[in-house]
Amino acid sequence: MQLKINHNFTESLPADEIIENYRRQVKAACFSYVTPKRTKNPEILHISEDMVNTLGLTSSDSQSQLFKNVFTGNQVLENTTPYSMCYGGHQFGNWAGQLGDGRAINLFEVEHHNKQWQVQLKGAGETPYSRTADGLAVLRSSIREYLCSEAMFYLGVPTTRALSLSLSGDEVMRDMLYDGNQAYEKGAIVARVAPSFLRFGNFEIFAARQDHNTLKTLVDYTILNHFSHLGSPSKDNYIAFFAEVSQRTLDMIIHWQRVGFVHGVMNTDNMSILGLTIDYGPYGWLEGFDFGWTPNTTDREHKRYRFGNQPNIGLWNLYQLANALYPLIEETQPLETILENYKIDFEKKSLNMMKSKLGLEQFNDEDAQLIQNLEDTLLLTETDMTIFFRALSNFKKGEASKGLERVSAAFYTPNEVSDVVAQQWRNWFKNYDERLKKEMLTDAQRKLKMDAVNPKYVLRNYMAQLAIDDANKGDYKLIDELFQLLKNPYDEQPKQQKWFAKRPDWARHKVGCSMLSCSS
Ligand code: AMP
Ligand code: MG
Repeated sequence: MQLKINHNFTESLPADEIIENYRRQVKAACFSYVTPKRTKNPEILHISEDMVNTLGLTSSDSQSQLFKNVFTGNQVLENTTPYSMCYGGHQFGNWAGQLGDGRAINLFEVEHHNKQWQVQLKGAGETPYSRTADGLAVLRSSIREYLCSEAMFYLGVPTTRALSLSLSGDEVMRDMLYDGNQAYEKGAIVARVAPSFLRFGNFEIFAARQDHNTLKTLVDYTILNHFSHLGSPSKDNYIAFFAEVSQRTLDMIIHWQRVGFVHGVMNTDNMSILGLTIDYGPYGWLEGFDFGWTPNTTDREHKRYRFGNQPNIGLWNLYQLANALYPLIEETQPLETILENYKIDFEKKSLNMMKSKLGLEQFNDEDAQLIQNLEDTLLLTETDMTIFFRALSNFKKGEASKGLERVSAAFYTPNEVSDVVAQQWRNWFKNYDERLKKEMLTDAQRKLKMDAVNPKYVLRNYMAQLAIDDANKGDYKLIDELFQLLKNPYDEQPKQQKWFAKRPDWARHKVGCSMLSCSS
């Protein structure tokens, strides 16, 4: 394996002086050196060829024993020093103190084609940040992380990537529903890749400890290495840095809203400083369009992280980051302006995103109302978000009366679309048709554009669960089938039509399909 390894992170930032691996509060350091746990019987289940190439590896590298050893934590590459990062975070609205990479170990940094990548194992054993947990991951959550992070990439959503999915060969004890029923599950490891895994929480921890020296070192490192276009670190550039993080966070969330993705645990320790979707835990995909939906059973009561609240939570999290950066800036006004702009930009970007889903390009005063009416109507009956928007591109100008028929496949109980609801739809399609007259594009041109933003295939909750059920029985074919399917989510793929379907009834209340916990 010919990798162009470097050590920017570990050479630029202060390390924990203690090298023994026991749980502790780590002060004045950004990371601790840790060695991944050896596993009993590692087996690679899937590899992302795209990521292999992106890192500058070859197909034959990925078939080698060395690859298997390294990406399951059983061999540390020469000249590399694996480490876990120290971070804190606000969890469900409360400051939680030190969290850190409790089960993530960064293996190395690599450069390829002028891009910097960090390669990290998730589930490779205990670290100083493991607190009361075991540092391991189970197969079900690893399949979910592996498939979803690559699927998000192909959807065009900013995300961390995945290189490989492996079984460790060890068993891991979990109480999946937190109901006192513990059971052994297969242990697994995902090799994740991103330019950086830094989170808001990496900055918050130093502000909380009033360790402004380390805070500054970390912010300067981040600007120099990941926001170098801003120029060298200075007070003005700290502000520019915050503005850019704010904008990237918003852009990421707008993408989530476009494709119907619900992260599920938007704690500040799960917010990437690069605006990447990070930490795929109890996430889910909207089936019925519903602003109030969350897949996370841990959040069932307050639904803090429900679909419709994600943009607000993004802003709330940015407030926490602003507080953390404040000691370096010592002025509230510029930070407040940026946070105010988030709200304004959200309105603009959200409107543009929804317009693109409807195939609208021209400016029109009433577009916000048209979209509001659509959302209100979508909420009247259970309507599949993905199928609805995909089917909408088949609408033809001047055929308002056929609108409802075009999208009928999206209704979960088509026979129960009452006269009142049907009338509302007919009204909406009439308005939509009127509005389309202001557009220049032909029906065919509009369809092309709409199909490029409204995916046909997403990783529906039940699809991941089917792959998990098979995998638990030792059959991994479906992992590959879904992986290949989701590489081209906007293409028709007629042979895969079975995945362009509403959630089957059996999946409505099945664990893993609509209900997920943080236990992973
Ligand atoms: P999450 O909200 O799942 O991203 O995790 C919150 C914190 O718990 C992070 O610091 C994780 O590293 C840690 N954590 C989650 N699961 C485990 C585990 N099995 N072992 C050790 N730490 C964990
Ligand atoms: Mg996390």
